[in-house]
Amino acid sequence: MAARLMDGKAIAAEIRQELMVSVAAFLEHGHPRPCLAAVLVGEDAASQVYVRNKQRACEQVGIDSQLHRLPETTTQDELLQTVGNLNRDNGVHGILIQLPLPSQIDETQVLDAVAPLKDVDAFHPTNVGLISQGRPRYLPCTPHGIQQLLHRCEVTTAGRHAVVIGRSDIVGKPMAMLLAARDSTCGPAVANATVSVCHSRTADLTDITRQADLLIAAIGRPKSITADMVKSGAVVVDVGINRTDEGLVGDVDFAAVREVASQITPVPGGVGPLTVAMLLFNTLSAARHQHAHQNGESPRS
Ligand code: NDP
Repeated sequence: MAARLMDGKAIAAEIRQELMVSVAAFLEHGHPRPCLAAVLVGEDAASQVYVRNKQRACEQVGIDSQLHRLPETTTQDELLQTVGNLNRDNGVHGILIQLPLPSQIDETQVLDAVAPLKDVDAFHPTNVGLISQGRPRYLPCTPHGIQQLLHRCEVTTAGRHAVVIGRSDIVGKPMAMLLAARDSTCGPAVANATVSVCHSRTADLTDITRQADLLIAAIGRPKSITADMVKSGAVVVDVGINRTDEGLVGDVDFAAVREVASQITPVPGGVGPLTVAMLLFNTLSAARHQHAHQNGESPRS
C-alpha cells in the first residue's frame, strides 16, 4: 500500500494560523509588531524567490518585513556594516542573511556578526551551543519544522532508530541533535531517538538506511534514496530541493519509495513550507526575547 503523504504545506498553513493568533495577542499586550529584516546580496534567482516567499509569509501572520538588497560586488566590510546597523536597530527583531553569499564574502564571519538575540536562523555559535546543551533559545528552522511535521503526523521517535543523511550545519547536524535530545518543543515523544548520521564517507550506506524507522535525507542529490534503501514501513522525510529538467525534485525517489514507506513527504510541498513557518515562529520569539531583555522580564511574558 502506498505511504501516507505528510502534507507539509497544509501543516505549515496550520502553524501560520496559530502564529497569526499569537502575533495578535503579542500586539494586544502593547508590544511592538515583530519585524524580520532580510539581507539579500546579489541577483541569485532562487534566493530572490525564497526571500519573496518569506516576506509574503511574514505579511500573512502580521509580522513586518524589510528587504536590504546589496549588489553582487558588495565587500565584506559593507555587508558587516549593514548587519551592524540592523543589530543596533531596535525596530528589527530578526535578521536573515539569505545564503549563498557571493564568493568574496566570508560567510562564517557574517553569520557570526548577527546579534545572537536576532539570529532567527539559529546559526550563531551561541545559539548552537545552547541547543547542544539542551536549553535552546531558537531552533534552526528546517529541523524544527521537521519536528513539528513528525508531531502533527503522530510519528513517535522516542526509542526508534533515526537515520539522518547529511551533516551540514543547517540541516543534518542540528536535526541529529534535536532527535537525540531528551525533550523537544513537541514533548519527549518527538525526541529521544537513537540517531545515526551518514555522509559522503559513510561505508555501506544502504545497510544503515535499511535499519531506519525514520529516514531523513538532506543530501542535495536528486532521487539518491531508492526503494531498496528503505525498510518496509519506515517514515521518510525528504529535505532535498534539487532543480532538474523535470522541475523541483527531492533527494528521495518519491514514486518508488512511496510503495515501501508508511509515511513520506513530497517535494515540493513537504519540508520547504515548514522551514518558512518556523522562521516566522522564531521572529515572534525574537521579538519576545528582545522585549524581555530591554525590560528585564522573562521572554515568555
Ligand atoms: P550540504 O551540501 O551542506 O550537505 C549535504 C550533505 O550530504 C553533506 O553532509 C554530504 O556529506 C552529504 N552527502 C553528499 N553526498 C552524499 C552521498 N552520496 N551519500 C551520503 N551523504 C552524502 O547541503 P544542505 O544540508 O545545506 O542541504 C541539503 C539539501 O536540502 C539540499 O538539496 C538543499 O537545497 C536542501 N535544503 C532544503 C531546505 C528546505 O527547507 N526544504 C532547507 C535547507 C536545505 P559530506 O559532509 O561528507 O560532504
